[in-house]
Order: sequence, then C-alpha cells, then structure tokens
Amino acid sequence: MHTPGTQGTGSAPEAGSEVIPAARPVIGDAEVEAAVRVLRGGLVVQGPEVAAFEEEFAAVVDGRTCVAVNSGTSALHLALLALGIGPGDEVVVPSFSFAATANAVRLAGAEPVFAEIDAETFCLDPDAAAAALGPRTAALMPVHLYGHPAPMAGLAGLARRHGLAVVEDACQAHGAALHGRPVGGFGDAACFSFYPTKNMHTLEGGIVAVPDAEVARTLRLLRNQGMEQRYAHEVVGANMRMTDVSAAIGRVQLERLQGWTEQRQSNAKALDAGLAGNPALTVPPVADGARHVYHQYTVRIPGGAAVRDAVQRELRVRGVCSAVYYPTPIHRLRPYEHLGARLPVTDRAAAEVLSLPVHPGLAPGDLDRIVTAAGQAVRAAGAEGTVLR
Ligand SMILES: *Cc1c(COP(=O)(O)O)cnc(C)c1O
Repeated sequence: MHTPGTQGTGSAPEAGSEVIPAARPVIGDAEVEAAVRVLRGGLVVQGPEVAAFEEEFAAVVDGRTCVAVNSGTSALHLALLALGIGPGDEVVVPSFSFAATANAVRLAGAEPVFAEIDAETFCLDPDAAAAALGPRTAALMPVHLYGHPAPMAGLAGLARRHGLAVVEDACQAHGAALHGRPVGGFGDAACFSFYPTKNMHTLEGGIVAVPDAEVARTLRLLRNQGMEQRYAHEVVGANMRMTDVSAAIGRVQLERLQGWTEQRQSNAKALDAGLAGNPALTVPPVADGARHVYHQYTVRIPGGAAVRDAVQRELRVRGVCSAVYYPTPIHRLRPYEHLGARLPVTDRAAAEVLSLPVHPGLAPGDLDRIVTAAGQAVRAAGAEGTVLR
C-alpha cells in the first residue's frame, strides 16, 4: 500500500512510536491493477469505465443520474451552469467550507452570499440562509461538512417557497444520510469529490448527481466541449472529463466505501468514548436522524486559535498529526473579503476546530494513542482552564 506523505506541524515524535497521519489515501494492489488494465487496453480517456462508474455510483445517491467529471470543483461549477445560474445571480453558501464552494459560484459568473452556520454541526443554518435571500438569489448551496448532513428539510422548504435551486456540496459526504435518505438525493444537483483524502478517491475526480435527465444531458455537453456527436458543438463547454483510469480506480474504491464508512464510524465511536470526559474539548455532535460518515472527526477546543494551535503542536510532539479545516473562513479570504460579511459563529468555529485522525487506516492501538495524546496535549497547552460554554 502506497501512503503519500501528510503534513503535520511541530517537531519529531518521541523515538519508538510511529507517527499517526491525519489521512491515509489508499492506492492498493486492486487500484493499481485496475489502472494498469485500462492503460494496457489503450482507451484511457472518458469511455466504458466512466460509464460503468457513473451507473455504480448512482446506488450511493438514491438512483439519481450521475455525470463524472475531473474534480469536485468542476462538479460544482458545471452543476451551477447546467441549472442556468450565472451572471446577475446570487448563491447562498456557508463561509465555513473549502474555498472551492464559493469559487465554483464565481467561476459560474454568479456571486456568493455568505450565511451563518449552525454552531453545533457547522452546516448552513436555514434561518441564516433565509435572512441572506435577496431579489437576485437563485440558489442555495449547503455543504455537508466533515461528512455530517446539512439540515436539508429546512433548506429544501426555504428553496421551494422562494423558487430557488439547491446544489448540495457533498464533496465530503459520500454515503451520509438524513432519516435514511442519502445526501445527494435532496437537491437539484449534488456534487462529490474524489480527491485522494476524501472518503473514496479516483486520484482526482468528481461527480454530479441529478434527478433530471435534461440537466444530466446538459452536464454531459458542458464537460465535453458542448458536444454529444463529434464536432457537433451545441453549446460552449469545457474539457472536464474524467479519464477511464480514474473511473477504474473509483470502481474499486466504491466497492469498499461501505466498509470504510463503517470503520470511520466505529473509530469515531471509540474517540467519542475516550474523549467525552475531557472538559477541554467537545466531541462532534450528530443531529437527530443524521448518518455522519466522518470525513473528519472534528473537535472544538474553546479558547481561541492560539490555544487550539498549541494543542495541535503538542499532539504532533506525541506522534499524532491533526489538521484545521479551515483556519480562515472563505469570507475572510482575499477574493471575498470586500463583500464585508460578518459571521461571528463561523469565525469562532474557525478558531476552535481541530480534526483528529479517524481514517480507516488506523489500527486499534492508534485510537488509544490519539485519546491519550489528546488528554496530554490539552494539559500541556494549558487548554484545560478554558471554560466550555
Ligand atoms: C474537496 C472539496 C471540494 C473540491 O473538490 P476537488 O475535487 O478538490 O476539486 C469542494 N467542496 C468541499 C466542501 C470539499 O471538501
């Protein structure tokens, strides 16, 4: 198994203990064999493997039609274009997400409007989304952040009342569900990423799931220079095709997604049990009826970014890598700061979150080490004195 390097901070761990990485993308023998099979076959661009992958991924999203592309960002971008969202339109998005969420809106020619998140689940808050609506609002783009589903009932109701499209950013939430209904099955379009650190990958890749055959056809045109028949370009399109090599790897990964998800959930359960008694941090809550797929296992450490960063350094000294998603909310990034959004719940989340390893590559002993190291790290960082509200 090949393990790409993962970033950490701080000095080397004590001798005798292996570092626990924050993520461990799998490129196993089956993935290599699938890629080689396609390469030896000679037909490597979008072809039969992509078509098969699209059919098989439909099972994850309630049977919706899937159109594979070259990244999650492309998926979001094309979903907006295919739904007719562009210049003059506004799209309500959370600021507490990866920049790709807002970038896709800008790339489509529309303008993101940042709305506040729920303080517990970090997902777009329906009341805040309602307050962000204006005469130009064309769509809502909730993010199922860290693998926890956004509150789709409230958001879908809001969209229905105002005639808005809903584009789910499900890039971190393959297999997540709400009251038994999978994410990707709620919106007018839903977008997944297959970047190596996601719950499953295709090296690089993404997919759009849609309930509407006409929108699916538009997506297929847009990803391939606007043509269905060779050189009969119907619209202006890009080249955002997935390769057959990627799709073949994705098909192998898809077979293991369910097992990996269960492993993530059982790892999260062990971390919950080990960390719940620690007053210096909050374990990730799960909303009623939500199936959390733990793309990240994200704790909150109250006290501000300096305390949180100190805990992260102390964890690294003890051989545990962790990560902050995302230290700067999108509304404070240079392309968006001029919009002047004021989002205190988001700012506070960005200063307090820390994602601990939860990936299926963890050994049982790793979970104990993470729990022990977290206890020591909050003490060493002086985070214990901070009061939980
Ligand atoms: C990863 C991710 C994306 C972008 O996916 P890429 O495949 O990296 O382009 C978009 N939104 C969120 C929330 C993500 O985590």
